[in-house]
Amino acid sequence: MTTRSADAPRFHVALPLPAGELLELPREPGHHALRVLRLGAGDALVLFDGGGREVPAVIESVQRDRVLVRLGEALSPLRESVLRIRLAQAISARERMDYTIVKAVELGVEALAPVAARRSVVRLDEDRAGKRLAHWQSLVVSACEQCGRNRLPSVEPVLPLAQWLASLPAGGEELRLLLHPGPGQRLRELHPAAAVTLLVGPEGGFAPDEVAAALAAGFLSVCLGPRILRTETAGPAAIAALQALWGDL
Ligand code: SAH
Repeated sequence: MTTRSADAPRFHVALPLPAGELLELPREPGHHALRVLRLGAGDALVLFDGGGREVPAVIESVQRDRVLVRLGEALSPLRESVLRIRLAQAISARERMDYTIVKAVELGVEALAPVAARRSVVRLDEDRAGKRLAHWQSLVVSACEQCGRNRLPSVEPVLPLAQWLASLPAGGEELRLLLHPGPGQRLRELHPAAAVTLLVGPEGGFAPDEVAAALAAGFLSVCLGPRILRTETAGPAAIAALQALWGDL
């Protein structure tokens, strides 16, 4: 297992990062390095490409807003879980959804699928859905910068629940779990799987026909104990429990 050195700030830079080269940081990480963290020549940082590689680097010079860094040798430390988890979260109020996404990334999800449910309080037209998707992707990037992941989890475009269920491959290998309060199975009673898709309802829960549609699509109803969790708690709690059972926690 590799843990990260906690001191050097990390920046996602989706570019080739060849050892020994001088690279100008793109605008956003450059701004963050200079104006927020107030880094300067000689300071160490870590860049990662989002595809699994990270590269130690040192700031060589700063010219006005341009930050030039000298790249070191790439490393590919393994910080991804062996358990592949995809979280399908019914769209919840803005700050709840943000919380879910950040915590799910910290806990090691591989993919996030925002789904529009009947009781989702937030309605997103195409324009707002696009903006919200970009916002969620930026949260994923900053969570990866913070927690040391070098592979960016994907955020899928928003789909209505029925359409998202229809998009799942028939006979998919992954275990499909619908988190639903009530008399469902408990996580620890399930047979271990290598890949899990979790489906979590919005603040008001799923409507009965949505539950029926998920069950028809091969989801198993599971219950996270006798307490009702808030929607933003349910996903991260289930991910943590699954990682402890079959993953890397
Ligand atoms: N009143 C709603 C509660 C919604 S809680 C209802 O009875 O359905 C929001 C979402 O969090 C739920 O749709 C479910 O996906 C998840 N959740 C909350 N508590 C849970 C529990 N104890 N077990 C399984 N899922 C839970």
